[in-house]
Amino acid sequence: MYDVVVVGGGLAGLISSIELARAGFSVVVIERKHYPFHRVCGEYISNEVRPYLAHLGLDLKALGVKEITDFRFTSPSGRALDTQLDLGGFGVSRFRLDFALYQLALQTGVEFCLGETVNEVTEDLGNSFEVHIQSGRAIVGKVILGSFGKNSKMDKALKRDFVHEKSPYIGIKYHIRTQFSQHLIALHNFQDGYCGISAIEEDKYCLCYLTTRDNLRRYRDIADMEQNVLWKNPHLRRIFNESEFLYERPEVINGFSFAPKQTVENHILMVGDAAGLITPLCGNGMAMAIHGGKIAAEQTMLFLEGKISRSQLENDYTKRWKEQFASRLWVGRTVQRLFGDEWLSELSLRIFQNSKPMLKWVIKQTHGKVIAV
Ligand SMILES: Cc1cc2nc3c(=O)[nH]c(=O)nc-3n(C[C@H](O)[C@H](O)[C@H](O)COP(=O)(O)OP(=O)(O)OC[C@H]3O[C@@H](n4cnc5c(N)ncnc54)[C@H](O)[C@@H]3O)c2cc1C
Repeated sequence: MYDVVVVGGGLAGLISSIELARAGFSVVVIERKHYPFHRVCGEYISNEVRPYLAHLGLDLKALGVKEITDFRFTSPSGRALDTQLDLGGFGVSRFRLDFALYQLALQTGVEFCLGETVNEVTEDLGNSFEVHIQSGRAIVGKVILGSFGKNSKMDKALKRDFVHEKSPYIGIKYHIRTQFSQHLIALHNFQDGYCGISAIEEDKYCLCYLTTRDNLRRYRDIADMEQNVLWKNPHLRRIFNESEFLYERPEVINGFSFAPKQTVENHILMVGDAAGLITPLCGNGMAMAIHGGKIAAEQTMLFLEGKISRSQLENDYTKRWKEQFASRLWVGRTVQRLFGDEWLSELSLRIFQNSKPMLKWVIKQTHGKVIAV
């Protein structure tokens, strides 16, 4: 019997497990992969989590992060808009960041069950839950955190509402070496998608894009789609042609949506993307997963210390989550609609070009305040 079982060891799961173990609770994280591993992500992290990560004990300098202060936005035809980011952020690969957090979690006393997929969670009579894993075992916990990301078999197992809706998006990522400012994050639009590029450790860059499954279906394969769609943006054509691609094949995540989700399902507190995925255009999903992990841990501690009931835990967590993240998700979905097709993207870019304060206001709406430590 653990105090807390965490399903999924991404940022949300790792942060909540570290916080809970530090407070003296027994925690196990069940993760289907083995660290370190790559995942699809633009790898730009907002500075709103920087003091908090340092406070947790993460040495960002030692990870080789790159400071990112400038933003470039281009339309499918290549028209560019440049501005400075008020808060800014840093770049580091998930391979490195998640592995460092995993090591920190181990040092803190978190237990891990790696290479195991959770199939379902059932409620026990004694106010606890059984987490059933692929190898046939069941792990029992008083509180279950669902930090299994944007695309998990757990969504179907829990019969979550949004699984009946379309999951039209795919994400594709490469690490590259290229000629590009290390302080810049660029977001290049193309028909039915956009592609981010920014520096990470060791003079490498992350090139990551979001598009639709329909877009890919129209072409033979990913390379064919890139040449016929992405390369119409001259900035992307140049980057694809002049860069060294460091993977044999790209990392791909297939079939997810930005549909609203419930924060608590079957008494499982959802954290990170499992609670709601912000459009990557905003570059704030990782900060939200980190902040969400902290909030879930704080509320769980109150329950385990006997200060609040389970229903209070669920209500208070939902309330705090909504206060912190609901409007960001809404703004993210709305802004993404402006960049759905070529014509609208060109128009939106021209409007933002003529009103940089408006652009800065929109960026601010998709971000939170620096997390207090
Ligand atoms: C194309 C794209 C680009 C992005 N770019 C950025 C960016 O530049 N900046 C930014 O801040 N955000 C970005 N994001 C968002 C960001 O990647 C996510 O918001 C963040 O990773 C969420 O963290 P998480 O812990 O919730 O989920 P994840 O990091 O996805 O972790 C979930 C974990 O759960 C595990 N898991 C799933 N199911 C099971 C199961 N049944 N049993 C056991 N384990 C399971 C998975 O293996 C995974 O390790 C991007 C997203 C996309 C799609």
